[in-house]
Amino acid sequence: MTVLVVEDEIKVAALLKAGLQEHGYKVETCGDGNTALQRASRERFDAVILDIMLPGRDGLSVLRRLREDGNTVPVLLLTARGDLPERIAGLNLGADDYLPKPFSVLELVARLGAVLRRQQGTGLTILHCGDLSVNLVTKEVLRGAARVELTPREFSLLACLLRTPGKAVTRVELIQSVWGYQFDPGTNFVDVAVQRLRRKIDDPFPRKIIQTVRGVGYALHADP
Ligand code: CA
Repeated sequence: MTVLVVEDEIKVAALLKAGLQEHGYKVETCGDGNTALQRASRERFDAVILDIMLPGRDGLSVLRRLREDGNTVPVLLLTARGDLPERIAGLNLGADDYLPKPFSVLELVARLGAVLRRQQGTGLTILHCGDLSVNLVTKEVLRGAARVELTPREFSLLACLLRTPGKAVTRVELIQSVWGYQFDPGTNFVDVAVQRLRRKIDDPFPRKIIQTVRGVGYALHADP
């Protein structure tokens, strides 16, 4: 886990760096808003700890630009104690949490851990399409409240289709992603596998979500 700490007060930055390193984080630091924006845009960080009062560009402006650019890196803001408008502005701009100064490093580490767990726990763990939900970690598959049991291969096939709901996935893409072949062996085994999957995912239910895209492959649609 690599964290970018953006803080112009050298003492505070050093304290943060030491505390985070002690808890197993790799830490990069920078002391002004423009460098922070550049680095957070070009490099991959697991989180950014962002002071608001910074030389150059302030923290709220860095955050605004990151979110405008579609950057979803978790951001924890360091705010002045009692500055409610600033905190509200930060949360509205897409901050994941804030911590009023002065703070304890232990609290910061705890907040950061919570932000990272939230980030990992959302979006990518459970994929949805209509009333279908697939948990990529527990491998639980539900249609509405009904549990569906799949083989590991059927599960990968479904997960592969679910990553781009509404978009056709070609047979070759499925072969590569699910079976790991770099070529189309020219049999109809993808179609046979999808047929088996349909028997479990679609046949028992009134709404069908696996669509055949003629001449291309398959797609999942919530509303066919
Ligand atoms: Ca500052």
